[in-house]
Amino acid sequence: MQTTSLGIANYCVKCNANCRYCLLASRHQTSGVDYTRAKVFFERIFEEAKTKLPDIRCYFYIGYCMDTPELQDFIGFSRKTGSPGGNFLQMNGFAERSKEETEKLIRGIKDAGVQMIDLTFYGTESYHDRFAGRKGDFRILLSMLRAAVQAELEVNVSLPLIRENKDQTDELIQFLKAQGASRFYAFLPHSKGRGRSIMDQRLVKQEFDSLSDEVKASFTKTETRTEAEWLEKRAFPEFKNRDLILVLNPQEMSRFEKMSCEEILGYLENLDDRFLQAMPSAGALAERYGDPENQQLFRFRDLLLKWQQQYIDEAKGAIYDMHDESHHFSVHL
Ligand code: SF4
Repeated sequence: MQTTSLGIANYCVKCNANCRYCLLASRHQTSGVDYTRAKVFFERIFEEAKTKLPDIRCYFYIGYCMDTPELQDFIGFSRKTGSPGGNFLQMNGFAERSKEETEKLIRGIKDAGVQMIDLTFYGTESYHDRFAGRKGDFRILLSMLRAAVQAELEVNVSLPLIRENKDQTDELIQFLKAQGASRFYAFLPHSKGRGRSIMDQRLVKQEFDSLSDEVKASFTKTETRTEAEWLEKRAFPEFKNRDLILVLNPQEMSRFEKMSCEEILGYLENLDDRFLQAMPSAGALAERYGDPENQQLFRFRDLLLKWQQQYIDEAKGAIYDMHDESHHFSVHL
């Protein structure tokens, strides 16, 4: 497995929402370290890596959401270090603001160099608010959408498709188009974090086929099949590369600050190698957990995640879960 990138994540900003499928399982609190301390740490790793790890892309990001007084600084720092937040921000989870404050926020983001924001809508207003865990969340997103359209800042509208909201998608898209949205990205949410609680909400093929052409046209282009079809096909895609992410936390921070970029990378590679060694192959997991009757749709990555999670559960704590994004994790590519 070839490591291609090293991310440093700092969940130092509290999110104001409480979404049912939150992959970070955010709970209105922070778990990272002081923003400036994290930045100083990453800057040192970034500079060291230029000469010591020239083939590895290093990047930095913060969570749980972007509602922080440090946002302008974060955008500038991300631009300086080539991190994604210099161009693109996910904007769910903000506290309520007046129209004027929202417009100022969006203008500030654009002026700092961000080219696109993402807003995730879960359905029409009352459903969305219930899913996001707070009344008024839909209105906050709408206010951001309008401000972004006015400021000519590009907006990607993400639409997680599940059984409960699939019949709302056409109405939602038409409504958001009338507000100026033009770019939609529909996807099937995966089962990380709180997403595991809505596994039964994953669409089956027949439900997907009944969606309108417009919704289907906005659907992710990644190969998606039913579990039954993946099992019949058997030629499972292989992952050859990996992105490793160090998630900062107060307990381990002093230790990380004493480590070189190579030691940090080695620490994460060791965690992921141990995970891969402990985990049976995709074929063996398919034999063990595959359900040849299941008509739910999956990208292969998400089906493998489901099987691996079952194996991790059975191991009862003996395997460190490299899918859990609330702590150090990997993404296999
Ligand atoms: S806005 Fe994002 S971080 Fe906040 S609860 Fe929802 S999914 Fe989680």
